[in-house]
Amino acid sequence: MKTIGLIGGMSWKSTIPYYSIINEYVKEKLGGFHSARIILYSVEFDEIEKCQSGGDWEKSAEILGDAAEKLEQAGAELLLICTNTMHKIYPQISKRVHVPLLHIADAAAEQLEKDGCKKVALLGTRYTMTQDFYRSRLAQRGFEVLIPPEADIPLVNSVIFDELCVGQIKESSRQAFSRIIAGLKAKGAEAVILGCTEIGLLMHPEDSVLPVYDTTLIHAQKAAQLALENDILGIDWNL
Ligand code: GLU
Repeated sequence: MKTIGLIGGMSWKSTIPYYSIINEYVKEKLGGFHSARIILYSVEFDEIEKCQSGGDWEKSAEILGDAAEKLEQAGAELLLICTNTMHKIYPQISKRVHVPLLHIADAAAEQLEKDGCKKVALLGTRYTMTQDFYRSRLAQRGFEVLIPPEADIPLVNSVIFDELCVGQIKESSRQAFSRIIAGLKAKGAEAVILGCTEIGLLMHPEDSVLPVYDTTLIHAQKAAQLALENDILGIDWNL
């Protein structure tokens, strides 16, 4: 079994599910007392959030690149960045290490392709929804990506940062997200990507009129699957 390195803490609320999902997967496959080999580097999120809101992505790339290097030195053989937003600096982080860095959007795309979805709604932070780094990764694989109307972008973003990242789950926000997803379905979306690792703490499949693709679940399960495979270096990582 390969050792998985998690670059987590963004926010720490969403890193907790990674740990249990990976272990549940290994338990289900191997049974008994088996559990995953995991090394976690949990960053100080206040520092990262200040880089995001201040536009200093290069500084955040330094911090997460250092974390990636340390995980590799500690023995991690496969790395994950446990947030969608910070995949904006995926190229800078992956350059710092020799081990594979499993892109969260690739994991989601693979699952959507298996299920035959082409037109997908995307919920996430304002960076993930409105900037190019995430949507273009999906578009390159032939997906049409729909995001909420401009008037709803601040709402989705503030639920993530002001509520979910600090551990608040509000019924009113759940209803607002359900309404936004219904609107995107009316525009032709066949599925919704929960493209922020906290959204799964709020939204469950029964809260959505569209099939839900929770990136935390998909990313963590894919990592666990790869950790149990023999030849992860033989995979085309599309770096
Ligand atoms: N965890 C979130 C994401 O998946 C948001 C927090 C962050 O900005 O990193 O995008």
